[in-house]
Amino acid sequence: MGPHDVAFDITFCGICHSDLHQVKSEWGPSHYPQVPGHELVGVVSTVGAAVTKFKPGDKVGVGCFVASCRSCKQCSRGFENYCAKSEFTYNSPPDAEGRLTYGGYSSKTVVHEDFVLRMPDALAMDAAAPLLCAGITTYSPMKIHGIDKPGMRVGVLGLGGLGSMAVQFGAAFGCEVTVISTSPGKEAASRELGAKHFLVSSNEEAMKAAAGSLDAIVDTVSAQHDIGTYLGLLDVGGRVVIVGVPPQPFSLHAFSLIGGGKSVTGSLVGGIPQTQEMLDFCAEKGIVSKIELIAIDQVNEAFARLVKNDVNGRFVIDMSTLKA
Ligand code: NAP
Ligand code: ZN
Repeated sequence: MGPHDVAFDITFCGICHSDLHQVKSEWGPSHYPQVPGHELVGVVSTVGAAVTKFKPGDKVGVGCFVASCRSCKQCSRGFENYCAKSEFTYNSPPDAEGRLTYGGYSSKTVVHEDFVLRMPDALAMDAAAPLLCAGITTYSPMKIHGIDKPGMRVGVLGLGGLGSMAVQFGAAFGCEVTVISTSPGKEAASRELGAKHFLVSSNEEAMKAAAGSLDAIVDTVSAQHDIGTYLGLLDVGGRVVIVGVPPQPFSLHAFSLIGGGKSVTGSLVGGIPQTQEMLDFCAEKGIVSKIELIAIDQVNEAFARLVKNDVNGRFVIDMSTLKA
């Protein structure tokens, strides 16, 4: 414990597809031993002498990073997520003393108060855990790229953990949301979350009929896919924001962009101020993740089901099962 550290007992931790990518070292060499988990929530047990923001008993959360330089342009703008020296909650390179950071599949953690979020009372802690990554990763680009205007026609590509959040945010912003999915069986779930339209990407006729019908697409797909196909769904001037991170690079024909003045951009989680703003927005609107609660000894099974796209929302680990 340093003077600015907050120690908390972790009660729940979401399972992000990024955990799977990193456990399997799919994004370049991972660091081991690895304790995954960057959607952790819990209750403060102890605080360092200089901590001003939290006290024992507070409900808190931690997302994808736990440190940054605090002095660069990005840190001063509240975009610590883009600081070149930010440290991920787990799987960051070892520090000068060779120490690694360890994530949320754990009973306790210690994090500097500047990277700890306040969990609103109105949100159930288990269903709110995924907001710390899946929530902010979709909320942030939707806000930054103006994909938050009533009436805007917004596509969400992939209805997994991130996609389910993007649909709810789009609906809460008053947008007309279309889910584009490889899974015909997810239509009812998409409508429950607030989607108005549901497109099955293998249905060529429906895809053709929907050409030019969207202003923006949030691409949350975790596996290799042809982005060019989906650019055809955009109207002139439309934009795809990539948040999914398939292990392989993608290719794109220039005509699919220049033909309609379209653009492709990307986004990495979100900064601390915007994460707190998102949590407060979710509390106001009653937005949480759809979850399947599991015990710690079901993690490997959950990973296997995630690979098979066999999950409705997000797996969340109930950390009380670790102590049992
Ligand atoms: P997830 O729950 O597994 O959802 C991914 C969805 O992608 C699936 O539900 C599926 O939706 C779709 N999909 C899967 N395989 C596909 C394929 N071959 N072709 C087309 N669609 C396919 O994963 P997640 O936790 O939401 O994470 C999604 C991606 O975002 C991962 O790559 C993760 O690492 C990345 N991520 C990025 C950030 C960031 O900061 N940018 C943050 C967190 C996560 P349908 O069944 O509807 O097709
Ligand atoms: Zn994540």
